[in-house]
Amino acid sequence: MTRNDDTYDVMVIGAGFAGMAAALFASAQGLKVVQTGSTGGIDFSTGFIDLMGVHPVAEGKRWRNPWSAIEAVVRDFPKHPYGLLSTDEISEAIDIFTRFLVEQGLEYVGHQERNTCSLTPAGTIKRTYRVPKTAWNGSVALGQKAPTLIVDFHGLKGFSGAQLVETQKHHWPELKTVRIQFPGGRGELYPEHMAWALADLGIQEKMIAAIMPHAVDVEYIGFPAVLGLNDPVKIVNHLEKLSEKQIFEIPTIPPSIAGPRLRAVFDRGLPSLGVRTHSQKMVTGVKVLDNGMFEFSVGTGAAMLPVTAKKAILATGRFFGKGLRADRKKLVEPVFDLSVVQPEERGQWHAQEFFAPQGHPVNSAGIEVDERLRPVDASGRPAYANLHAAGAILAHHDWMRMKCGAGLAIATAYKAVKELMR
Ligand SMILES: Cc1cc2nc3c(=O)[nH]c(=O)nc-3n(C[C@H](O)[C@H](O)[C@H](O)COP(=O)(O)OP(=O)(O)OC[C@H]3O[C@@H](n4cnc5c(N)ncnc54)[C@H](O)[C@@H]3O)c2cc1C
Repeated sequence: MTRNDDTYDVMVIGAGFAGMAAALFASAQGLKVVQTGSTGGIDFSTGFIDLMGVHPVAEGKRWRNPWSAIEAVVRDFPKHPYGLLSTDEISEAIDIFTRFLVEQGLEYVGHQERNTCSLTPAGTIKRTYRVPKTAWNGSVALGQKAPTLIVDFHGLKGFSGAQLVETQKHHWPELKTVRIQFPGGRGELYPEHMAWALADLGIQEKMIAAIMPHAVDVEYIGFPAVLGLNDPVKIVNHLEKLSEKQIFEIPTIPPSIAGPRLRAVFDRGLPSLGVRTHSQKMVTGVKVLDNGMFEFSVGTGAAMLPVTAKKAILATGRFFGKGLRADRKKLVEPVFDLSVVQPEERGQWHAQEFFAPQGHPVNSAGIEVDERLRPVDASGRPAYANLHAAGAILAHHDWMRMKCGAGLAIATAYKAVKELMR
C-alpha cells in the first residue's frame, strides 16, 4: 500500500453532479479537498440542468416556474430534500455552479424565474432550468415555431430528424429535416468521433456546403449535439458565420457528448482550484480514527491508497452511481453501512406496472439526513458528526420523474458544504 500522510479538510466521495459541485464549493471556501469517484449520471446526462419540472408525478403536471414547483413539492412532501434548503441557497448554488462552467468555456443559459422548453432527441419537449448555450437557439426556434431544418447523419444511431419532425408536425409546421453524409465519415458514426472531427474547419465547411441547398428557406438549423468537445460555442459561432443561419444543438440519447463535455470541465477545472482528484477510483473501506477523522481506503490491490480527512461528503448516488446496493432482501449503503429509508419488504419496491404514473417506491429510497444534511441512524441521531450527504443518495425524492436531478444534486452539495463549515 502506498503511504500518503496528507490530511484533507474534506473528502468528497463521488464524481457525479453532487460530487463535482461539492468539490467546487468546498475548494471555493479555501478547504483542502480530495475527491474520489468513477462514472456517474453526469457522464450520461443530456447536459440540461433540471431544477424542478414535474409534480405531482402521478398526474404528470409540468411546471413553468420551478420555484413554484419546489414550493408545491415541499408542501406536499415535507421530507423532500428541497425542504432542507432556502430558495436563496438553491439559487446561489446553481449560479456558482454555472458561473464555473462559463469560466471554463462551457456556457449555460436560462431564465431566472422560469423553466426553458427544450427539444429532446425524441422530438418531445422538456422543461429544464439551465441549458448549454449551444442548445439555446433551439428553444427560441421552438418558441417562435420558426422555419427550421433538423440535420441528421447517415450512420449516426439514436438521433432521427424524421422522428423529431413527425412528433412535432402538428405544432410546428415549418420544421423539416435532411439526412446527409458526414464529411469523411462512412459506416457507423459516434458522437465523440464526430465532435473531434468537427474541430477541423475544413470538415465544418464541407458539412455546411452539403446542408445549404436544403436550408434556403429556413432561419434555424438544428444538429444532434456533436459540434465539438471542448469548444462547442466557438464551433456554433463559426457554423453560423458560414451558413448565415441560427445554429443549435439537440442532445442525443445517452451516452451523448454533453456528459464528456461536463466531465472535461471538471477534470481540468477542479485540479486547478487545488482539489486532489482520484478519478476512476472508489472508496473501498473507511475507518474512524481515535481523533474522529476518517481514514479511507481508495482503490484496490497494490494501488490502494489511504486518505485521511477531517470531514466527508457522501455523494455516491443511488443504484446507477453505486451509492446504494440491493441485496436479496434489502437495500444497503456500502461505504458507511448507513441505514437506508426503503419499503418494508422487497415486494413493495416496485409498482405492478413498469410505467406506473406514480413511479416506484424504490426510486425514493435513500439516506435520511438531519437538517444539516448529516446521515442519521435508526434513532434519528447523526451517524457521524462530521459526515454530510448530498445528491441522489438522499431519500424522499424521485429525481427522474420529478425532473430535479442535477439541480437537487448541486443545491444539496452547496448546503452540505455550508453545514460542514459550521
Ligand atoms: C441517463 C441519464 C440522463 C440524465 N439526464 C439529466 C438531465 O438531463 N438533467 C438533469 O438535471 N439530470 C439528469 N440526470 C440525472 C443526474 O445526472 C443525476 O440526478 C445526478 O447525476 C445525481 O447526481 P449524484 O452526483 O448524486 O449521483 P451520480 O451521478 O449517480 O454519481 C455518483 C458518484 O458516486 C461515485 N461513487 C459511488 N460509490 C463510490 C465509492 N464507494 N467511492 C467513490 N465514489 C463512489 C460514482 O462513481 C459516481 O461518480 C441524468 C441521469 C442519467 C443517468
